[in-house]
Amino acid sequence: MRNIVASPQAGELRETAAALDRALVARAALAELPGRFLFALDDGAGDVAALAADAESRGGVLHLAGRPTDLPGTVDALLDAAQAFLDLRGDEWRVHDLPDGADRIAAALGGRTTGPRSVPAPPTPPPVGWFDRPDGSVTLGMGVPLGRLDPRTAQFVAAVDHPITITPWRTVHVHGLDEGVAETVVRVLAPMGLIFDANAPLLRVSACVGDHGCARAHGDSLAHAADIADDIADDERVHVVACERGCGAPSGEHRRVVVTGEPGE
Ligand code: SF4
Repeated sequence: MRNIVASPQAGELRETAAALDRALVARAALAELPGRFLFALDDGAGDVAALAADAESRGGVLHLAGRPTDLPGTVDALLDAAQAFLDLRGDEWRVHDLPDGADRIAAALGGRTTGPRSVPAPPTPPPVGWFDRPDGSVTLGMGVPLGRLDPRTAQFVAAVDHPITITPWRTVHVHGLDEGVAETVVRVLAPMGLIFDANAPLLRVSACVGDHGCARAHGDSLAHAADIADDIADDERVHVVACERGCGAPSGEHRRVVVTGEPGE
């Protein structure tokens, strides 16, 4: 019940996220939230808004499952919305599943929804590369191939010893670098496999865990995804799975590849 995402480039939201986390823990009743309930703090960029969080502050306005309201997106309002969801729900896990959920929750908070569901597309490609920040510092966004950061590479990222953000798009951001340090970080981490090029094919391929951790798997979806990455078209998005259940599919348009475990797969 402590699923909180915040726009990764918005440093000012980190303290709000921490405050939200503390306040959430302090309201014991909210421990009853379903494990999938998601809070989001979007600075107006529309990046984490793409996740259609249950309770979201977008540009300072409370959104419920992607629907705007006339209520402020304060920490208290987010938590009040979560409590109202708990009070109204039957066996629904998400606000979107609750009939008229956004309307009823907004009304319970003394407000109303002000528009239809508005959920932007996720950032494509994900934000990787060199970002000059208004304060003169550099943020480096690094793609993590197939979302798997091996322990040695993780240790090198940690050794940079600057604030790190893990994003929902299988990227890691390191913040507050000066230019010299940022250049060194790229020189060290790019050869280790981290991706700094937004056009890299591996950023357009994803996979379920496959036989690295799932008993239903018919094969190694991760290895197959890595094998086919260089062959996919420039505008193609591919998701590889190891059975028909199709876990982890990206929300946007994509081609699904099912690994069967047969020779050649
Ligand atoms: S798609 Fe199938 S193999 Fe892959 S994680 Fe889901 S259940 Fe397991």
